Amino acid sequence: MQLITGKTKLLGIIGEPIEHSFSPVMHNAALAHLHKDYVYLPFPVKLTDLSQAIKGFAAIDLVGFNVTIPHKQNIIPYLDVISPEASMIGAVNTVWRSQQGWQGTNTDVYGFIFPLQQLERNWQNITPVVLGNGGAARAVVGGLLSLGCEKIYIIGRDINKLEKFKNSWQTAVKTALLVRHWENLEEIIANTELLINTTPVGMYPQIDASPISANLIKKLQPGAIAYDLIYTPNPTKFLQAAQRQGAVVIDGLEMLVQQGAKSLEIWLNQPAPLEIMRKSLKDHLGL
Ligand code: NAP
Repeated sequence: MQLITGKTKLLGIIGEPIEHSFSPVMHNAALAHLHKDYVYLPFPVKLTDLSQAIKGFAAIDLVGFNVTIPHKQNIIPYLDVISPEASMIGAVNTVWRSQQGWQGTNTDVYGFIFPLQQLERNWQNITPVVLGNGGAARAVVGGLLSLGCEKIYIIGRDINKLEKFKNSWQTAVKTALLVRHWENLEEIIANTELLINTTPVGMYPQIDASPISANLIKKLQPGAIAYDLIYTPNPTKFLQAAQRQGAVVIDGLEMLVQQGAKSLEIWLNQPAPLEIMRKSLKDHLGL
């Protein structure tokens, strides 16, 4: 147990619910490894209390915090400076105190593309298929565009929500998004080299479920990339089936580690101990 002193500085994560977050595990492991006199705590903050919580954080001189569901979009009006990448996708996951006040950015985009950047692919010629149109899909779209993808299929189960998702982007992005209902997936899946699950299907409590049926996954080309943002269970049913099909599979653990490391680098202004963060998460998840 780390010694808390009168000089200990505070970091944390806000969300509702927050008790299932794995961020405190990896951040406190990193802070202990670096011998930093900081602690990282989970803060349950209701949507209606967001403004009050941020004022309170300034009053107690909190150094910085992560932001998770349901605050990633709602926090934007309370920030003084927002990075271009967070502004582009309309979501913030990392906040820190600066001379200009609260500053925010989005490290999910960086975390998401990190495992893809380790692969040799011509992204401009790939039209990825993204399953789901929620919060995580925003970082995924931002990441895919930054890789160079020119068109992106977004698959959802509610056509109104799909249209709302598309219309929430600036014009240049809107034209890149091809929104389709789930029932059109069969004809799309066979032609893609990158299939990404951003739905919670396959995550606890739906651990025996897959967002895609066994028959549909058979249409995936061998050598295509199947990426599941879920990090536990690991691998998910979706990734197991994709691997049997000969796909290159990526789970959500590295995204979690990389986005966390990037946040810590911002708060501490020094490199984060990636190996320690990865190991602490794997130990905690029993992987
Ligand atoms: P979210 O905002 O609630 O969005 C979930 C999306 O999935 C929505 O579009 C929803 O559709 C769709 N969906 C939910 N259940 C479905 C079902 N049974 N069939 C088809 N579509 C369904 O959640 P999120 O923040 O995007 O998170 C999604 C997943 O990504 C979670 O598993 C989360 O753990 C993971 N994630 C991982 C990382 C990482 O670092 N690895 C980071 C962020 C998120 P409707 O809009 O129609 O409801």
